[in-house]
Amino acid sequence: MQLFSDYHTHPQAHRLQRYTFELLQPWAESARSKGLRDIAFTDHDRYHEGIDFAAIEALRARNPDLRFCAGIELDNDPVTGGTGRRWVEANWSRLDFVLGSVHYLSAAEMFDSTGQAHQFEGRRIDDLYADYFRRIREMAASGLVDCLSHLDLIKIHGFRSESPVAGLIAETLALIKEKDLAIELSTAGWRKPVGEQYPSVEVIRLAKAAGIPFTVASDAHSHVQQGENYARLVQVMQECGIHEVCVFENHRRLVVAL
Ligand SMILES: [Zn+2]
Ligand SMILES: [Zn+2]
Repeated sequence: MQLFSDYHTHPQAHRLQRYTFELLQPWAESARSKGLRDIAFTDHDRYHEGIDFAAIEALRARNPDLRFCAGIELDNDPVTGGTGRRWVEANWSRLDFVLGSVHYLSAAEMFDSTGQAHQFEGRRIDDLYADYFRRIREMAASGLVDCLSHLDLIKIHGFRSESPVAGLIAETLALIKEKDLAIELSTAGWRKPVGEQYPSVEVIRLAKAAGIPFTVASDAHSHVQQGENYARLVQVMQECGIHEVCVFENHRRLVVAL
């Protein structure tokens, strides 16, 4: 089973960088060298000013053997979230794909950043999980996303809910199914303290049983990270009986058998 797509990538990495052919072409070359042929660029909405649809068109013209989706990762940033939502609304028809993410709890800093484990220390972890999944459901209900990224990101620093999360997960997955959204299978958790893909096998199995489709993704912040740990992800997918992935074009979902 060979994965051919990566639906969560950050050409701008962690700062505003205008899309140019020169910025994007290394992503094409790296994708090709790894056997990937369908890539979604999903920079953070706070860097939406860097997104240039004409540069993506130029990249497509120069790399006709590959597909590139114009996308964005919309999150719940308390400062920039409103502007991001308005940008997604204004550019909806030019975008192929929108990821929805929750990176913020009650603090002003992204909880998933390095050095932010203190947002969890001394707190009731069950409450943080409940708050996180409530925010995920808000994002799922926003009408502005096609797919939820790293669905159980709340585990990133290794803090686990003490009570079973099955109820929270079931309620969240039911809404995702109702809204006809996909969720992402992400290798990014393997390079974080938690050391586990997103989401957990338990969540993947529940999502599959609910009939929710999956994208696959690395959350690459450099072109060399595209497709990272895909062999390992294939093992998890086989363990869960998943033999297809979905890709997008102008928000239309296409399921591809592997
Ligand atoms: Zn994210
Ligand atoms: Zn991301």
